Amino acid sequence: MSKVLIIGCGGVASVAIQKCCQCSEVFEEICIASRTKEKCDRLAEKLRPSTKTVITTARVNADNEKEVAALIRDYQPDLVMHIALPYQNLSIMNACLECGVNYMDTANYEPEDINDKNWREIYEKRCKDEGFSAYFDYSWQWAYHEKFKEAGLTALLGSGFDPGVTQAYCAYALKHHFDSIETIDILDCNGGDHGYPFATNFNPEINLREVSAPGSYWENGHWIEVPAMSIKREYNFDQVGKKDMYLLHHEEIESLAKNIPNVKRIRFFMTFGQSYLTHMKCLENVGMLSTTPVLYEGHEIVPIQFLKALLPDPASLGPRTVGKTNIGCIFTGIKDGKEKSYYLYNICDHQECYREVGSQAISYTTGVPAMCGALMVLTGKWNKAGVYTLEEFDPDPFMEALNKYGLPWNENFEPTLVP
Ligand code: NDP
Repeated sequence: MSKVLIIGCGGVASVAIQKCCQCSEVFEEICIASRTKEKCDRLAEKLRPSTKTVITTARVNADNEKEVAALIRDYQPDLVMHIALPYQNLSIMNACLECGVNYMDTANYEPEDINDKNWREIYEKRCKDEGFSAYFDYSWQWAYHEKFKEAGLTALLGSGFDPGVTQAYCAYALKHHFDSIETIDILDCNGGDHGYPFATNFNPEINLREVSAPGSYWENGHWIEVPAMSIKREYNFDQVGKKDMYLLHHEEIESLAKNIPNVKRIRFFMTFGQSYLTHMKCLENVGMLSTTPVLYEGHEIVPIQFLKALLPDPASLGPRTVGKTNIGCIFTGIKDGKEKSYYLYNICDHQECYREVGSQAISYTTGVPAMCGALMVLTGKWNKAGVYTLEEFDPDPFMEALNKYGLPWNENFEPTLVP
């Protein structure tokens, strides 16, 4: 019998929770816990009539390690699915270690306060040593590997789509199609239209930080960093059409560079429309993307948090978003002494997602792999003790689960390569 504590009840978590409830033979009991308990209660009420999963709810401030540990001790779950924000990764991992429970999340650790002196010192050293300047990286969570290993617990990092499925795609390509992979291009295309001049598809704070940061890629054993949005390519995506895409830094590049033997180059591209980029540049230029508090009429305001309050709630985009996403990886490498290329990707329709779970495809493509990753841990298919990313496990049962729970994959053995 599996009991799971799910922390967070936003866009991604609500999809993951609904998917868990579609698989009540494994997810027999879940507790939905978040900062705003009313959201958890509303979702629980909606789901109870149509699932055998026993759902309870709780309020928790996941920034507070002791509060999380107390909730874990009280509920006694087999796994904590952390689907709140990357700011809470370390406090939840600490609580899991303290209570002896498996852990998983969907994005790697990032501090809420990037001006914190202690964090900043470590960050600046890492920028110099590693050569990329993103605020997030795996080092904080990889540092827990020995502790999880000694405790006999699994921590599964980044079980969303990208990171997440993209890494399982890499493991699958290596297992079934290549003797060695030389290049990986991860292509994330959102061909959806929500009709607003500007809105973000997931948490605006996390999304805008990611997109306004310098881009970087891995080549010949080191990072190459370039100014934000300075590398642009056009690609003709299956079922979406031609889109402009831009090179971004992305967290899975870091773990893939470590785990895919002899890989020569890894890049990540995401599509953006001109309206999104123009709005973002303007907001950045006037200081609205800043995380440093400013004093306004006696109140401290964090500009990006104020902006978040003005923008449409990502959860509200579902009913109005039409079109498809197409996310996947293009590989080149060697098989049986011959050069080979291979494209593995998923296409997801915003409106179909909305009809099934009341969310658009971005939350759906992240929430389904979160549930599938949890399924792998709970059923013992992925049960190595320590801290791991998805490419470090056998991809086959996870790929099967993706097909079963709504994210079937497609293959192309003659893909157009990205110059
Ligand atoms: P949302 O902002 O929609 O939801 C976040 C949820 O976390 C809310 O329910 C929020 O509560 C809750 N929360 C925030 N702070 C706390 C806290 N201190 N204690 C308890 N609960 C808290 O985010 P998303 O659903 O869009 O994203 C969830 C995660 O998924 C993020 O880490 C994001 O980076 C990641 N992600 C990963 C992707 C991937 O492909 N790997 C793609 C997209 C997102 P409240 O309701 O009170 O605000």
